[in-house]
Amino acid sequence: MTVDKKLILIVEDEPSLADLLKDYLQQSDYLTQIVPDGLQVIQTVKQCNPALILLDIMLPGKDGITICREIREFSTVPIIMVTARVEEIDRLLGLELGADDYICKPFSPRELVARVKAVLRRSAIDYIDPPSGLKLDEKRLKAELQGSDLDLTVVEFQLLKILSSEPGRIYSREQLMDRIYDDHRVVSDRTIDSHIKKLRKKIVSVASSEELIHSVYGAGYKFEQKS
Ligand code: CA
Repeated sequence: MTVDKKLILIVEDEPSLADLLKDYLQQSDYLTQIVPDGLQVIQTVKQCNPALILLDIMLPGKDGITICREIREFSTVPIIMVTARVEEIDRLLGLELGADDYICKPFSPRELVARVKAVLRRSAIDYIDPPSGLKLDEKRLKAELQGSDLDLTVVEFQLLKILSSEPGRIYSREQLMDRIYDDHRVVSDRTIDSHIKKLRKKIVSVASSEELIHSVYGAGYKFEQKS
């Protein structure tokens, strides 16, 4: 077993589907581990520290939505939620679970492997140290500004992380949505504006003189510290 092979956790209670996914992922050079029971997931994630989790929603023991929320309390590991109903994806997006992508059954294993690769590629974006006064704790999804907790949602945290990783760089709404949602056709760009608005409000409530996130008319948003 080589160290640089990535471990994908397959949370799936249908043995034939789990095995099929395992075969395809292994052919693409990933390591895999199957967890068939919702109650075992959290412990397994903590033990084997996977690179990505495929998380079925309907599971014995505990459902995927609850599990996703619980994982996000301690980890930012990429999660792809697997649902049997396409109309459920909208509802899942609305719940802001912090999942990285959603895929609907039945899917082709090839499509799934492509999604896995895309999510892993996105999550590997190098993270540069944020400017002084701002502390981002990715494992706990906590952001501190000048010693005060900003109390951000997952999406707000991600926006702050992306923008602050390159101060001065202008990100379009499109680029921000690309990095936050896999299928942003289902999300309007007003969504980004409303998340940014809440994020700015939280920043100002902690540090009234810090206008860290600036909108650039007609272009998007950027992170910039005065001084
Ligand atoms: Ca299932």
